[in-house]
Amino acid sequence: MNTELQHFDLVVIGAGSGGVRSARMAAAQGKKVAIIENRYLGGTCVNVGCVPKKMFVYASEYSEKMEEAKGFGIDGQINGFHWPTLRDNKTNEISRLNGIYENLLTGPGATIFNGTGSLVDANTVHVQGQDGSEQDISAETVLIATGSWPFKPDVPGAEHAITSNEVFNLADEDFPKRALVVGAGYIAVEFAGIFNGLGAETTLACRKGLVLRGFDEDIRAFVQGQMQEKGVNIRPETEIERIEKQADGSLLVFYTNNEQQEVDLILYATGRRPMTDGLNLEKLGIELNNNGTIKVDDFFKSSLPSVYALGDVIGTPQLTPIALAQGMKFLAHMYHGDTVPMNYDNIPTAVFCQPNIGTVGLTEDQCKAKGIDFDVYESNFKPLKHTISGMNERTLMKLIVNKADDKVIGAHMVGHDAGETVQGIAVAITAGATKADFNATIGIHPTSAEEFVTMRSARS
Ligand code: NDP
Repeated sequence: MNTELQHFDLVVIGAGSGGVRSARMAAAQGKKVAIIENRYLGGTCVNVGCVPKKMFVYASEYSEKMEEAKGFGIDGQINGFHWPTLRDNKTNEISRLNGIYENLLTGPGATIFNGTGSLVDANTVHVQGQDGSEQDISAETVLIATGSWPFKPDVPGAEHAITSNEVFNLADEDFPKRALVVGAGYIAVEFAGIFNGLGAETTLACRKGLVLRGFDEDIRAFVQGQMQEKGVNIRPETEIERIEKQADGSLLVFYTNNEQQEVDLILYATGRRPMTDGLNLEKLGIELNNNGTIKVDDFFKSSLPSVYALGDVIGTPQLTPIALAQGMKFLAHMYHGDTVPMNYDNIPTAVFCQPNIGTVGLTEDQCKAKGIDFDVYESNFKPLKHTISGMNERTLMKLIVNKADDKVIGAHMVGHDAGETVQGIAVAITAGATKADFNATIGIHPTSAEEFVTMRSARS
């Protein structure tokens, strides 16, 4: 153990989206910063989340594009899918991004410790280096940004199933012919689309009737229908009793309704839990919420005043842009006296299923729960491309308008590149645009997005 303690203004534990943003911006502002990471720079988003997932989504859409092309007189065919090529090209790009993250940190002068950080006391962090070294460093402020980790329910045989941590790096021969995705949230819906598009016979087991609890009800039903239309076998109201591995390596799934199904791969996408293992939070008396996330105030301070936390580990929406915004808010408060808490209203989000979902603001159910009197403007149509592509894909767009002041308080879309469209709508909603403002906006023709400014009749 080193006896001479290196001192830092800020020690960040975890180099994911929130940790890297906080560390590099603090260093750029002249603070002496250390960041400790025991896995990969960039965290879940860069390594086993958003970025590689989107690459797989792109890959999964080519087979359908080839089908669509026939209607345009283009006669092509997909001759095969080589999983190792996709996996390795993805890995090469992720390695490049890891290098960029390293430069983003070291450029402004942050010190990277490759190891595991744990709290010793309010201002001391122990670093167990991946090279076997051990040292303590001292910190004016500690920021915990350790993120979250996939959760698998306690089902007999669940050890034969994988999570999103493993799915990105399956061995050459392990890309499944028959895939089962368990869960009905973002990851389940996106990976059902990925497996299906890449040619696996795909089942999604959902314990409720519809996928994507929390999204607008019309959007949920519409997406479920589109997924089925594209060939995903959805098993609603289905739970797994146990899983058995068979002699040939396949997996036999026993459902609670006594049905059975044989598959090659099971992906559990049943939520993510805060990653607090080994941090010593209990020993230091740092308070947790009931779900194990770290309790913080409006400016990310834990119950121990020198220790802060942000990102997935505090239980706010598990989205990279939220962690980034929290990092900026933390720095503004900590070093520049900002006293305005972060605003979690109108968080836009997308689900990269086929077609995509893009959404911002309130759902109908949320409006009802808040007692808001609202109008709904809705458009459900076959996009121009599919009038001759031969595909049955449709687009659904919805605006929710507060009757009291005409403000647009929700926008929901299922359709091609919905995330791209809704990002712009989110600016309008954040700025407080009214339905009259939407009506006064000139459309871009011919696009699907123009529907957002041309819907005139409220649903009766
Ligand atoms: P989610 O929290 O989105 O969904 C979890 C799903 O698992 C729910 O459908 C839930 O069902 C189901 N579930 C939970 N426990 C069980 C169980 N015991 N048996 C069966 N089903 C169960 O988690 P994800 O893992 O999909 O994703 C984690 C987070 O990552 C997301 O919430 C999101 O914030 C983020 N993410 C964002 C993406 C994006 O922005 N495009 C992409 C991927 C992830 P029920 O609804 O019935 O509770």
